[in-house]
Amino acid sequence: MNYDTFFTKHLDGLRRDGSYRVFANLERQAGAFPKATRHNGRSGKTDVTVWCSNDYLGMGQHPAVLKAMHAALDACGAGSGGTRNIAGTNRHHVELEAELADLHGKEAALLFTSGYVSNWASLSTLGSRLPNCVILSDELNHASMIEGMRHSRTQIVVWKHNDLEDLEAKLAAVEPGRAKIIAFESVYSMDGDIAPIAKICDLAEKYAALTYCDEVHAVGMYGPRGGGVTERDGVAHRVDLIEGTLGKAFGVVGGYIAASTAMVDFIRSFSSGFIFTTALPPLALLFLSITTTLKNG
Ligand code: PLP
Repeated sequence: MNYDTFFTKHLDGLRRDGSYRVFANLERQAGAFPKATRHNGRSGKTDVTVWCSNDYLGMGQHPAVLKAMHAALDACGAGSGGTRNIAGTNRHHVELEAELADLHGKEAALLFTSGYVSNWASLSTLGSRLPNCVILSDELNHASMIEGMRHSRTQIVVWKHNDLEDLEAKLAAVEPGRAKIIAFESVYSMDGDIAPIAKICDLAEKYAALTYCDEVHAVGMYGPRGGGVTERDGVAHRVDLIEGTLGKAFGVVGGYIAASTAMVDFIRSFSSGFIFTTALPPLALLFLSITTTLKNG
């Protein structure tokens, strides 16, 4: 087999149907958010304004965030030193996890290297280890949730987007006694609409299901402290697991879950996506209290 011929043929297919991805080669300009320089290869470079950034509030360039990151770099060095269970757990992880748990009114939180990894690792661990589990997934859930559910190899039932009647019909059809997880987003990444979280929780209580809410596009944006739509709507205590990112409104990188002590410890203990990867460096972890403080004036 000629491997490169195989790859090229499939890439040509993407080009034909218009879905081949071409990245803008940008260089962000700290202090001039949302401006960047675009590198155009041989034709030079141009100044551009980036309106599609996920650094929604420009926090990734805020002087207070940069100052804290510089200080952490000087104090602790560039990396974390290893995976979390082999020398990689720094004071900063422990403190940020406590802060994230508090932000969502949960007993505990757990950091991952990205929001994608936190969804993948948590859903695959819960789905594969809860006995005879079925995951009820909103049809517009993010790829990271879908991959996590698939990897769990448990049954996945897809319900129509934000459709409570369809969700209830699908919950009612699950054999009694099976473990159930309702997986959904608060602010949907593709359509930007918002889930009826309180009503989903009503159904979860009625059918004894766990609730798993991806707040990636909402943390830092909604709620008095930036705790997301669950905080804004006063329903965080009703959602069993809240998942978020530190890479969008919080402006840097990383992902997390917040839940009960038992659930967080379970995922910490059984999830390969948490255990077998280098921890985030301390310098990346020093911004949440700063951003929360700034947001609250
Ligand atoms: N969940 C949703 C809904 C997203 O849109 C994204 C990224 O765009 C992620 C999770 C992944 O988060 P991260 O970019 O921190 O990996």
